[in-house]
Amino acid sequence: MTGHTAGPTARLHAALAAATEDSLVVDLSGVADRCAALRRELPGVAIRFAMKACPLDDVLSCLAARGVGVDAASPGEIAQALHAGVPAGRIHYGNTVKSDSDIAAAHRLGVRDFATDSLEDVRALAVHAPGSRVFCRLATSGQGALWGLSDKFGCGPDDAVRIMETARGLGLTPSGLSLHVGSQQMTADAYQRAFEQLGDVLTALRRRGITPDHVNLGGGLPALGYLDRHGMPLDPPLDKIFTVLREGIRALRREHGDELAFLVEPGRHLVADHGALRAHVARLALRRTPQGEPLHWLYLSCGKFSGLYEMDAVQYPLVFPTHPGAPTVPAVVAGPTCDSDDAYSHEEGLVQVPENLASGDPVWVLSCGAYATSYMTRGFNGFAPPRPVCTGGPASAGGLGEGPER
Ligand SMILES: *Cc1c(COP(=O)(O)O)cnc(C)c1O
Repeated sequence: MTGHTAGPTARLHAALAAATEDSLVVDLSGVADRCAALRRELPGVAIRFAMKACPLDDVLSCLAARGVGVDAASPGEIAQALHAGVPAGRIHYGNTVKSDSDIAAAHRLGVRDFATDSLEDVRALAVHAPGSRVFCRLATSGQGALWGLSDKFGCGPDDAVRIMETARGLGLTPSGLSLHVGSQQMTADAYQRAFEQLGDVLTALRRRGITPDHVNLGGGLPALGYLDRHGMPLDPPLDKIFTVLREGIRALRREHGDELAFLVEPGRHLVADHGALRAHVARLALRRTPQGEPLHWLYLSCGKFSGLYEMDAVQYPLVFPTHPGAPTVPAVVAGPTCDSDDAYSHEEGLVQVPENLASGDPVWVLSCGAYATSYMTRGFNGFAPPRPVCTGGPASAGGLGEGPER
C-alpha cells in the first residue's frame, strides 16, 4: 500500500469519544486527506465529488475549497452545491434521467455540462439548455463491483455515436464521454475494460469529425474499511486500480491527443472511511432459533434506516469503546426497527461482541460515511435519524488547495 489508510483518524476517534448521543460523525480533515491522496495518485485529473455519497454542506465546502467540483443529479443538489461554494463551472449534471423542468432549472442555475444516454434526452437538452456541453455515458457490465449500476444507465458504442452526432446537429457541444464501472469496484480489470470501450468510441467519433475534449472515468473507487458479509476485510486492490488508471489515461492521450482532459467522480472513496456512527446498544439478547439453537442478537440503536442502508452487502467494523479486550460471543448484529431486513446477514456473518454489553453502552460503527445520510429515513418506527456532525473543520483549503481546475 502507498499510505492509503483505512482506519479512522485520531480526530474521528476523539469526536466519537466525545459524543454523548447518537450521531453520524464526519471527519473533514480525513476527507481532505483522502482527496489530496487521490490527487497524488492521479495527477492532473479533475475531481468531481458525487455528492449523493455525503450531501452535507460542510463536506461540500471543504472539498470546494480544495478545487473539487461536484457531480450532481438534480436541481436540488445543484442548488445545495452552489450554496456550499462550488462554482457553477465545476458542477456537472451527471444524471442521465431528467425532466424538461429539471434541465431548464439546472441551466438557469448556470450548469452547462450534462450527461446523456438517449436521443430523447439530447433533444430536450437542445431545447431547455441550448448550446450546452454534453457528455455521453457508455454502459458497462458493472462486473467486479459490489453495486453494479448496469442496465439503468449508459448506451452502447453505436448509440453513443448517434447521440453525439445528434447533439452536434442540434447546436450542442458533444464534449465528452463518461462511464461508471460500478460502485465499490473491486477489480482493476473493470477499469481496463472501460479504457478499451472509451478508446473504441473515441475512434468511431473521430471518423465522424467529433473530437471530445474530456473523458469522465466516473465513480466506483472503493472504500478501504469495509468488511465482507463474513466479517473479513474486503481489501480492494487500490494501488493496482490507480496503476491501470494512469496507464489507461496515458494510452488514450497517446492515441487521441495530449489535450484530452480526464475527470473522476468518486463518491464513496472520498467519504466512506471518514464517517462513523456513534450508536448505542439497545439490547444484547440470547434467543433460540426455530431449530432450538441458542443465538446471541446484538440490537443497536441505529441500523439499515439510520445510516447503515448497505448493511445487506457489507459489514462495518464495530468498536465497543467501553469494553476493550473483554471476552466476546458471536452475535447477529441488527438495527432497532420492526423490519427483519434491518440486520447483518446472519447466516454468514456473526460478529464477535463483548458478552457483558449493557443497554446504553456506546458502539462505534466505522467506515459508514458514504450513502449514510442519503439513505436515512425520516424516522422508521419513530427512531429519529442520528444527527450529522462534522469535525476537523474549518473547511478552509489550509494550503492544500491546488488551484482552480480547467
Ligand atoms: C453515484 C455516482 C457516482 C459515485 O459512485 P461511487 O461508487 O460512490 O464512487 C459517480 N457518478 C455517478 C454518475 C453516480 O451516479
